[in-house]
Amino acid sequence: MTSSPFRGTAPTRVDHLVVGAGFSGLCAAIKLQEDGETDFLVVEKGDEVGGTWRDNTYPGAACDVPSQLYSFSFAPNPDWSMSFSQQPEIQAYLRRVAAESGTLDRFAFRTRLEDARWDDAAQEWVCRLSGDATGEVRSRTLVLGAGGLSEPKLPEIEGLADFEGELFHSARWDHSVDLAGKRVAVIGTGASAIQIVPEVQKVAGHLDVYQRTAPWVIPRNDRRYSAVERAALRRVPGLQKAYRTAIYWARETYVPAFTWQPKIAWPAKKLALANLRLGIKDPDLRARATPSYQIGCKRILISNTYYPALDADNADLVTDRIARVTDRAVVTADGTERPVDVIVVATGFYTTELPITEHVTGRTGRTVAETWREHGMAAYKGTTVPGFPNLFFIVGPNTGLGHSSMVFVIESQVQYLREAVRAMRAGRYGAVEPTERATRRWNAALQRRMKRTVWSTGGCSSWYLDAHGRNTITWPRTTASMRASLSRFDQAAYDVAPDQTGSTPTREDVSA
Ligand code: NAP
Repeated sequence: MTSSPFRGTAPTRVDHLVVGAGFSGLCAAIKLQEDGETDFLVVEKGDEVGGTWRDNTYPGAACDVPSQLYSFSFAPNPDWSMSFSQQPEIQAYLRRVAAESGTLDRFAFRTRLEDARWDDAAQEWVCRLSGDATGEVRSRTLVLGAGGLSEPKLPEIEGLADFEGELFHSARWDHSVDLAGKRVAVIGTGASAIQIVPEVQKVAGHLDVYQRTAPWVIPRNDRRYSAVERAALRRVPGLQKAYRTAIYWARETYVPAFTWQPKIAWPAKKLALANLRLGIKDPDLRARATPSYQIGCKRILISNTYYPALDADNADLVTDRIARVTDRAVVTADGTERPVDVIVVATGFYTTELPITEHVTGRTGRTVAETWREHGMAAYKGTTVPGFPNLFFIVGPNTGLGHSSMVFVIESQVQYLREAVRAMRAGRYGAVEPTERATRRWNAALQRRMKRTVWSTGGCSSWYLDAHGRNTITWPRTTASMRASLSRFDQAAYDVAPDQTGSTPTREDVSA
């Protein structure tokens, strides 16, 4: 637990209020500071930095993007022990980067943004906080780095709330529950579940895995870095950067298979089917674990241990729909009742209706959630939204990836924030807001591209699609093109208002 410097009353005004202290909020704080934008406050509802890597402590939690790429470009870590990092190591990395950044004195932990309201006369966000830091803070910009996968979603299953055994979500793992010898049910077979299942199977008396849709699972080519490799990464100038760059471009070559011609993903499909054959001996089980949609339509998962765990004597894969949960059992549609002591709910997160958007009210008096209710999430370049001046999303609409590192996306969006803040300083603007026209054109082009992606044509339903069936989560192009489009602040797409308050110092004043 990290102590908050802001226990009690928060400062009454800051230049930038950042929400969230995961990769996004931390990156924003570090880069703003680097630009001399030192007057900021980061509010975080949790006890410390880390975001998703602080919250997801379930057994087996690890990243499926290579360690060298899943880290800040400005804070390389030659000491990653594995080629794909485990959660404790990523969390330790984020703690270290935060501590060394010299920004933590402006982080308020255990603090929630209750609501934020745009004050047009003052050209400021009026933010109400609760928790360790309480009160009203006015800020020139509001940066939302609250995460796209931070609010656990429980399934709507009859009787779940009345279950009398232990029940918890994958992202809220209850470590006080000893699973040894217990009858455990895992609901879901997504990225979280397939990491949890092998760990639970090792200790549980019996494990039932409730599958609605079979995932595609390719082998996890994970390995431990040798001491020699780590020494080389530390000592040989440029080596780590070259290694990271090679991983990055290798991953960029996967993009056409997702966004243009799904058929060219056949090597991945072959690999996944071989993984299935190798991992499951029982032909009936293998058939039930075989996906029936195009690979890539849902996130491609990586594991060497998931299939053998399903094939173990103490595990069952249940493919009948869950009808209800009783006080001590899960009942499927065929009437079978399976007694259970513990239910692990690995059913994902609120993704297309981000809870934070309910709390942010813009220039016209509507919240972001209300603005998006009719047609779904849409932002300009995934970052800014008409009607919400000086608001910046990190990991906003259509910035998600199926093939590469979200840290790259986060750094790209933070770069755009920096450019916008620089433009505001240079032009003495009090408010910048993307035009409706630019936003409409951006999203029309994006959705046109989306039509031919595997996420639209692959024959699956996924958390990328909203209630209107529109993909508002993933980015349908290369990450290199995303970075290029976010590399400068394109003022022509914005309505800018001069600073009416005279309170925006120029860049020279800031760095003086
Ligand atoms: P998820 O991918 O949304 O998976 C949720 C699972 O629960 C799916 O199998 C889904 O089935 C099932 N489900 C949902 N509602 C259900 C219901 N009412 N009854 C039965 N089953 C239900 O969630 P997640 O596994 O937590 O992963 C979310 C995202 O987090 C990932 O896609 C990834 O981006 C990220 N993540 C990454 C890692 C990593 O890097 N290794 C690890 C964990 C998570 P359907 O498929 O039928 O919808």
